[in-house]
Amino acid sequence: MQCKNHPNHQAEFICSSCLEPLCRNCVIEGEQGKSFCRLCYMCYTVSKVDSLIKEGTDRVGEKKGQEKEQWGPFRYFMILSQVLILIMLIVIFFVR
Ligand SMILES: [Zn+2]
Ligand SMILES: [Zn+2]
Repeated sequence: MQCKNHPNHQAEFICSSCLEPLCRNCVIEGEQGKSFCRLCYMCYTVSKVDSLIKEGTDRVGEKKGQEKEQWGPFRYFMILSQVLILIMLIVIFFVR
């Protein structure tokens, strides 16, 4: 089996998400010994950050109780960090 990015390389790994064959240069090791291709790792990371943000805002909501609908500085910070992550990923993928 050949790597999906490098036809000359032998694939030693398979992406846990899209099941594409990957060589040593293309594989990214995730948690629990999972292997990902770059694209799936990006999606995996973003979804993880998303769930962390949701957890964080939920906790803030619990603490504040009735003030749930108000936009505190924490929420602005979370959105800002999400935007920064997005920009970072765009830079990684499109500026090579
Ligand atoms: Zn993949
Ligand atoms: Zn490769």
